[in-house]
Amino acid sequence: MSHDHSIEDALKQLDKHGYKHTKKRETMLTNLIDRDGYLSAREMFELLKPIFPTISYDTVYRNLHDFSVINLVEETEINGEMKFKYQCGGGHIGHHHHFICTKCGASREIEMCPMDFFQDRLPGCKIESHRFEIFGLCEKCVAAFSR
Ligand SMILES: [Zn+2]
Ligand SMILES: [Zn+2]
Ligand SMILES: [Zn+2]
Repeated sequence: MSHDHSIEDALKQLDKHGYKHTKKRETMLTNLIDRDGYLSAREMFELLKPIFPTISYDTVYRNLHDFSVINLVEETEINGEMKFKYQCGGGHIGHHHHFICTKCGASREIEMCPMDFFQDRLPGCKIESHRFEIFGLCEKCVAAFSR
């Protein structure tokens, strides 16, 4: 939940990977940083439409995908829809996992990895990669539902 990652940081990373700094990209990145959780390409499109009336959904999706390729955003699938979130800690923190709210897209970083547990159960195998995400409802959504 830290805001130590700035838009300047994000734009620097864009530049480093050869992506032009455009007003659209900057606005998308600002929205991602402000969200501090996951949002879908559709939600991003709705946020951008009032500012850039001619923008297309495809453009939004393509840019989010590009951000993901250069690890500027993390992506995951929630209820069959791809969602995107700004990289944790501005990309300056190590390997970690997430709890993700399926209702509002909020995410919590979990700074531990359960893979040692699995390696013990796979003697002789070499684990090369893994995905591990926990889904549920955040505190806010739990409270809203139990009202
Ligand atoms: Zn993360
Ligand atoms: Zn929630
Ligand atoms: Zn891990």
